[in-house]
Amino acid sequence: MLELRWNPILNQWTIIATHRQNRTYKPPKDYCPLCPAKKGGLPTEVPAEDYDIVVFENKFPSLQKKTPETIGSDSKFFKHGKAQGICEVVLFTSDHNGVMSEKPLNRYIKLVKVWRDRYRELGAKDYIDYVFIFENKGEEVGVTLHHPHGQIYAYPFIPPIIERELDSSKEYLEKEGKCLFCKNLEEEKKDGRRIIISNDSFTALVPFSASYTYEVHIYANKHLPSFNDFSEKEEIDLA
Ligand SMILES: [Zn+2]
Ligand SMILES: [Zn+2]
Repeated sequence: MLELRWNPILNQWTIIATHRQNRTYKPPKDYCPLCPAKKGGLPTEVPAEDYDIVVFENKFPSLQKKTPETIGSDSKFFKHGKAQGICEVVLFTSDHNGVMSEKPLNRYIKLVKVWRDRYRELGAKDYIDYVFIFENKGEEVGVTLHHPHGQIYAYPFIPPIIERELDSSKEYLEKEGKCLFCKNLEEEKKDGRRIIISNDSFTALVPFSASYTYEVHIYANKHLPSFNDFSEKEEIDLA
């Protein structure tokens, strides 16, 4: 079963995905489905001898391109929605034990270009409201495959935290006539204590109201709404 269910208490959608219960969990030590396929070996997700960066659709997605037309029927209180969306996997390198921080700058530039491409293509679909590009690392957060990779979720709704960010940005713009994110960066720069590093286009900082240890945000120095608005220089500077 795969559907959205409305949580009236938290005022948000929840993705119900029971088919993910039997997803890949810790394959045998020498087999990795994300490595290039070896001649005569088991097939993998990448039928090539080597690669730089690869993107493919997740085999065990929380959101599906084609969702069954029949989802549970609504009562007056319990509402359903279609969990229609796209989940992709991004492989950062063909090197199974590779460490991204040891890779040359060029690899990062390529990765930013890939992110932009996926953001643009997925975000342009009429049933997609939000494209979330992320990476989870470590068994502690439930990562089952150790090959260096990230993920992309293209959602049919705006996730609650993002919605709150949008609401407060809108409210601030109406009240103060300014972009909240630009203002936040301006104040952080004025204070200066939490700035980690910056270049022509971006500034990395620990936010004043950080919720996590080691929480770092990267701000564009100029008002840059999304990946769609990046110049080539900004791609390189982010990398
Ligand atoms: Zn691998
Ligand atoms: Zn701004």
